[in-house]
Amino acid sequence: MLSVDDYLARVLASVEPLSAIDVPLSSAHGCVLAEDVTAPWPLPSFDNSSMDGYAVLAADVAGATDDVPVELTVVDDVPAGYRSTEEVTSGTTVRIMTGAPMPAGADAVVPVERTDAGTQIVRISAPVDPGAYVRRAAEDVMAGDVVLTDGTLIGARQMAILAAVGCGHVRVRPRPRVAVLSTGSELVDPGTPLRHGLISDSNSYLLVAACQEAGAEAYRVGPIVDDEKAFLSAVEDQLHRCDLILTSGGVSMGAYDTVKAVLGQLGSVEFMKVAMNPGMPQGHGHVGDERVPIVTLPGNPVSSYISFENFVRPALRLMRGLTDLQRPTVLTTLAEDMTSPPAKRQFARATFLPDGQVRPVGTGQGSHVLGGLSVADALIVVPEDVTFISRGDDVTVVDLRQQ
Ligand code: AMP
Ligand code: MG
Repeated sequence: MLSVDDYLARVLASVEPLSAIDVPLSSAHGCVLAEDVTAPWPLPSFDNSSMDGYAVLAADVAGATDDVPVELTVVDDVPAGYRSTEEVTSGTTVRIMTGAPMPAGADAVVPVERTDAGTQIVRISAPVDPGAYVRRAAEDVMAGDVVLTDGTLIGARQMAILAAVGCGHVRVRPRPRVAVLSTGSELVDPGTPLRHGLISDSNSYLLVAACQEAGAEAYRVGPIVDDEKAFLSAVEDQLHRCDLILTSGGVSMGAYDTVKAVLGQLGSVEFMKVAMNPGMPQGHGHVGDERVPIVTLPGNPVSSYISFENFVRPALRLMRGLTDLQRPTVLTTLAEDMTSPPAKRQFARATFLPDGQVRPVGTGQGSHVLGGLSVADALIVVPEDVTFISRGDDVTVVDLRQQ
């Protein structure tokens, strides 16, 4: 039996970062930058007002008070997007809106709240310092600055700076495309009435969502009946469409374990037992002339999920070009005694308590227990050589609350 770490190393060795492509900025969210991005212009790119108000010479309004306001002649009006051709000279002002370019001559802005809002003549009732309410060109970013570096994950905040420096297109490693094939003659699509012995296909929904949460684009194929031809043709159909194939079911020792039977003959997919609970039967390799990576997950839903978390999520992150592949773990204390199978690393579904301790879910640790999985927000990682942990002991926990 292989250790979890050794098997993970094998899965990671079977994938590589996707090639970089140019995408329109609107498609870049969730991708990883494959270039340094340099600002072609400064930010702000011109001196502009940070308030709605009046562009003035600060010296003109130095003595302004409520009782003795300073009167200035309004010589122009500049909304955002326009530039005034007037110059502000002593005794005059230009009415200005937030974001509009500072007119020549002016060195400060008086907010409209400190005036009578006049449009011909304005009365100003408070002084301002030179430079007040002016956002200076290049105070944020200088032309030529690298604003984002190669390898940065593009989230909402990064989208903003890319747009601000005018990137219409950007070079990225795209989100991996994942085909999720669930196998099993007992499976029907949710919403279909269940005849005796049939069950809803929950794994493909679980895995597509987990792939999406891991930053991939994923889609369902199936459910596929336990028939070698049907399975092989479903796999072949996907070879040109995706960067990774994920299957669930059919990898144990049963008579109808089609996935193992079909892929085991190819020579390019290896099946093995991994010393973990749940999720012992695993397989991975490549299929087709295109050598598309494939990971074959066990069918029990909780096994499928735990296997995804341990092997597929890190592989997807590697394909995205990320370097931190693992979810964060935290050290906390256990709220009640628990047992664990010998010689296997257990990933026990658990919940965080309000005080930060963790407690295994109440429905047991069976690999079919979906109710327990659905309320879990933590996985207690119990080492291979530990079979019992007492309440109050330290435990390492994978925090599922963070993406
Ligand atoms: P298998 O690995 O194919 O023998 O499946 C193990 C168990 O997981 C069986 O009880 C299956 O019915 C169940 N199972 C397999 N695939 C799925 C699926 N897509 N959704 C829900 N349960 C499944
Ligand atoms: Mg099956």
